Amino acid sequence: MDNTPPKAPVGLQTLKTFDPRAVLVRLLGPEPTKGRIRTVGVQLASLIIRPAPFTTGYVYNILSGKQNIGAPLAQALRGVWVAQNGGHPISGAFDPIDVYAVAGTVEPASLILARSRRCPTCLIPFVPRVPNQRYCNHVCKRRRPKAPPPPQGSSAAGMESTEGDGALLSEGENDGE
Ligand SMILES: [Zn+2]
Repeated sequence: MDNTPPKAPVGLQTLKTFDPRAVLVRLLGPEPTKGRIRTVGVQLASLIIRPAPFTTGYVYNILSGKQNIGAPLAQALRGVWVAQNGGHPISGAFDPIDVYAVAGTVEPASLILARSRRCPTCLIPFVPRVPNQRYCNHVCKRRRPKAPPPPQGSSAAGMESTEGDGALLSEGENDGE
């Protein structure tokens, strides 16, 4: 974002607009220890549901001006900034986007805490219901590319015949592969 050298901690009252570097510096405190930076890296990552923490090396590079603040860290810092200004951190750290949902299943402005993935059959991104779900629904699961037939001829088609369209009506808690 910017390459200005680290500044002294800034009183939030003096922050007219969101300055991610200022928020980071204030969060770390003066002369932050490695442990403090590690803790902040973990907390900021968890705020945006990021699997891996922001590393101390990355934060050091930002403080020393060797690296710019990337979009994920800026977003987490925006959440902190909003919280410090009396708002809910989520409203700063999360972006409103359009999603498609079956009517009545997802309340408007819900927080989506899971990552979307792309269905390998229809290529449409979806948020899985269970962690190991690979296909968006049973139709796409049935239409997945067939593995080569086994040498001794027990046909995959015969095995699939047991799974009729009734599967579409099931709850699908076992969608995963
Ligand atoms: Zn699909």
